[in-house]
Amino acid sequence: MVVVGIDLGGTQIKGGLVDEEKGIIKKMSNPTEVEKGNDRIVENIVKVIKALSNDTKIDAIGIGSPGSIDRDKGIIRFSPNFPNWRDFELTRLIKEKTKLDVFVENDANAFALGEWYFGKAKGLKDFIALTLGTGIGSGVVCNNTFLTGKDGLAPELGHIVVVPNGPICGCGNRGCVEATSSAKYIAKEAQNLLDRYPDSLVLKLAGSKEKIESKHVFQAYEKNDPLATIVANFSIDALARAIGAYVHAFNPEKIIIGGGLSRAGDALFIPLREMTKKYVMSSFVGTYTIEQSSLVEDAGILGAASAALYAEEKNF
Ligand SMILES: [Zn+2]
Repeated sequence: MVVVGIDLGGTQIKGGLVDEEKGIIKKMSNPTEVEKGNDRIVENIVKVIKALSNDTKIDAIGIGSPGSIDRDKGIIRFSPNFPNWRDFELTRLIKEKTKLDVFVENDANAFALGEWYFGKAKGLKDFIALTLGTGIGSGVVCNNTFLTGKDGLAPELGHIVVVPNGPICGCGNRGCVEATSSAKYIAKEAQNLLDRYPDSLVLKLAGSKEKIESKHVFQAYEKNDPLATIVANFSIDALARAIGAYVHAFNPEKIIIGGGLSRAGDALFIPLREMTKKYVMSSFVGTYTIEQSSLVEDAGILGAASAALYAEEKNF
């Protein structure tokens, strides 16, 4: 099967022509132009699809987008990237213009499907995929089934509470793992602690307080910087606690982590693997691995394409 995968971002539409066997054949991107309104956004998506499919017969189109998505109806209920979209019938509009099957999936679920078709979860029956970025997104395959729940809202593994009365989360609760271990929290907490550690390497790496990002914290953490150590140990420990809970709930073979934070590499993964051991029952130790996603910058396109492949296979 050959499909087009569209990674729908707030500034860029990234698209790829994707072969089920060979992976990405061709890719391109186009500005989203959110400010020019819905018709223009749809037009820009269609432009990418047409340019990619040009002389190739394609089977379907998959779109990955952040936000709350009704995959069965092909509706975007709400997306942080598109403030004007409320119950926006994205797939119907694209279908009308392309006469092809169109599927839309939440970007975190799409990431998990991308790992299943093209990444480290290929051939696995039980795995968990996490995107660690500004927020924490998740997808779960358990016993060869892609879990979505009764209303299609699951899984939201980023909102497992790991620190009671901890930092406030975007969802309104306190102490969700998204609030303790996302890139956003790590950068903010490092900025907060700067008054106590004015000589921190984190500041030297970033250049100024405002420019501190999670990557600077991890670079300094590798050099045993005291501020970075406090922030990273807290965040990694909280994430380890969450992963321990996921391991107990789903007994996965792999936990695959992507997103911006995963690029910290060993600085994140080595302590994370160690700390997770503390939180799993002894019978689970050695049953799972925690791995860095290998899809990197193509994760969005491959995820979206996989949403189409999966939907076509399941005859949605
Ligand atoms: Zn939350």
